[in-house]
Amino acid sequence: MPFTSYWGECMVNKKGILIVDDNELDRSLLADILQEKYEVFTAENGREALTVLRANFKQVAVILLDLYMPVMNGYEFLSVQQADESIAEIPVIVITQQDNNDAEIEVLSYGASAYLTKPYVRELILQKIGDEIRKQEVDHLMKSIDVDTLTGCYNRDGFCKKAQILLREDEAAYDIVAFDIEQFRVVNDVYGIHEGDRLLQYLARIMTGFARERGGLCGRISGDCFVMLLTRKSGYEEEMVSYVDRAMERYPLQMKIVVRFGIYQIENRTIDVTVMYDRAVLAVKRIKGKYGELYAYFDDSMRDELLLEKEITNSMQQALADGEFLVYLQPKCNLKTEEYVGAEALIRWQNPERGLLPPGQFIPIFEKNGFITEVDLYVWEQVCQMLARWKKENRPLIPISVNVSRADLYHSDFLDRILELTDKYDIESSLLHMEITETVYTENQNQILDMVNQMGELGFKVEMDDFGSGYSSLNMLTEIPVDVLKLDMRFLEGYSAGKAKGNILEFSVGLAKSLGLESVAEGVETREMVDELRRLNCEMGQGYYFSRPIPIHEFEQKLDSNQKLDNSSQKLAVNA
Ligand code: C2E
Ligand code: CA
Ligand code: CA
Repeated sequence: MPFTSYWGECMVNKKGILIVDDNELDRSLLADILQEKYEVFTAENGREALTVLRANFKQVAVILLDLYMPVMNGYEFLSVQQADESIAEIPVIVITQQDNNDAEIEVLSYGASAYLTKPYVRELILQKIGDEIRKQEVDHLMKSIDVDTLTGCYNRDGFCKKAQILLREDEAAYDIVAFDIEQFRVVNDVYGIHEGDRLLQYLARIMTGFARERGGLCGRISGDCFVMLLTRKSGYEEEMVSYVDRAMERYPLQMKIVVRFGIYQIENRTIDVTVMYDRAVLAVKRIKGKYGELYAYFDDSMRDELLLEKEITNSMQQALADGEFLVYLQPKCNLKTEEYVGAEALIRWQNPERGLLPPGQFIPIFEKNGFITEVDLYVWEQVCQMLARWKKENRPLIPISVNVSRADLYHSDFLDRILELTDKYDIESSLLHMEITETVYTENQNQILDMVNQMGELGFKVEMDDFGSGYSSLNMLTEIPVDVLKLDMRFLEGYSAGKAKGNILEFSVGLAKSLGLESVAEGVETREMVDELRRLNCEMGQGYYFSRPIPIHEFEQKLDSNQKLDNSSQKLAVNA
């Protein structure tokens, strides 16, 4: 290896120190001390220092600065350096004559990082410089921790930190804007993860530009959920919407990409940025899927919703301990005989202040905060307990379906927990049916496939809930070994008004048959629906026509009379 090139590499690897001093003797004294460890640059005054610095800003790690020099003194140099983004972060150690606290404070207020007094003590100088370099490295590291590796914009922590600082230091009016891509999952599913990533990178780039133009920030919270902090200006929402629209038109993807924004106008700057973000998210959720509505503001009704959410979160644990959660049952009926062939367990919350709450008001919150796994376990236990009692009382046993949340399935001990219950109460596993909603199967197919297989091997029946409510469930239907299809209520909605969805209903029942699955129609409300479902050979129905969900003791009475009725109708049939 030629000598020069070896030397050249060494020089590049060495960190640089810039000595700025008009006194030649001082410059060479310092250079002597530093030469061994660092690449030394020198300048006689502030102006020359700026020239050297701009040419070598990548290499210079620390500046040693004399304050009193001709042409441009140290103070002037500091003010220019601090204002120049490309060199502002290089730490400056000021050299002064006397050990004087006031002077130290003064230079620090000009942007210097540290301060060194003459005469020069070799060890002290090397240590100070070493300290500054380490501090700088930690700073860089901290910065890289704040950045989202995929898109290069801020990550959640980085955004929150920066936003908090900006809000503290700048008095302008600001908004927090949450935004995401409509049906982003479809982009991943149809075009692949890489294409999804590219789209996220593109969106991050254009929105970072948009935010920067307005003195704001842009960050990615997770997945396709982004956030911006923007100064409030009238009409900027429209501007933002058309900006994204134009940018997305230029983006090379067959599918039309729609981005929606939720805006929270910051009034109280002391609340946590994550809380502000949650509010902006609530606003954007309100317009999900609404044609032509591309932005929305957080308002008071949403505030009430959040308060309720908070109240629910605060009281849920105690409510569970106090037995405020009740299990209701709704029968599943054989559509030919109208006999009860099963029932679904549906939870209710008997809230001392708010009365009987339907699950729609609290289940989504529990799913978000994770409490759902505890609640579901409670429901399963209540059901097992009831079945054990029925067994003891010699009642006829019909299978009970319980709802399994997506979060339950991701607990590794999910099956153990259920087995523990069936063991404890000595219940046949075939008496417990697991309802898993359709969209869950599309998410993590291998894991779910594995889980459903295991459930089947253990003797539990698995029902695909809300079949037809999501998308693309046809392919996986052939792969996932479910036992029953529960046809989503919307197939029957508006049934009498023109039979618009009749074809899909017929198709779905036929599909279930061809796969050897039973089907249950949900939302059966009228006699006409029962007749139509019978005609289609759908086996079971569930809905208000037969019974609303009712408390367990009421259900037991109904079950008794239903079975008596059934016995007598069977007898009639035998006699005829
Ligand atoms: P789902 O599993 O689809 O339950 C069926 C919902 O349809 C129930 O609403 C039921 O009361 C309602 N329904 C039954 N028949 C009819 C009808 O003829 N017409 C109409 N319009 N509606 C009918 P509910 O009880 O309000 O439950 C709502 C959702 O909450 C359930 O939907 C389920 O996803 C969830 N859920 C209920 N209990 C639990 C539970 O213990 N655990 C979990 N994870 N989720 C639960
Ligand atoms: Ca269900
Ligand atoms: Ca359902």
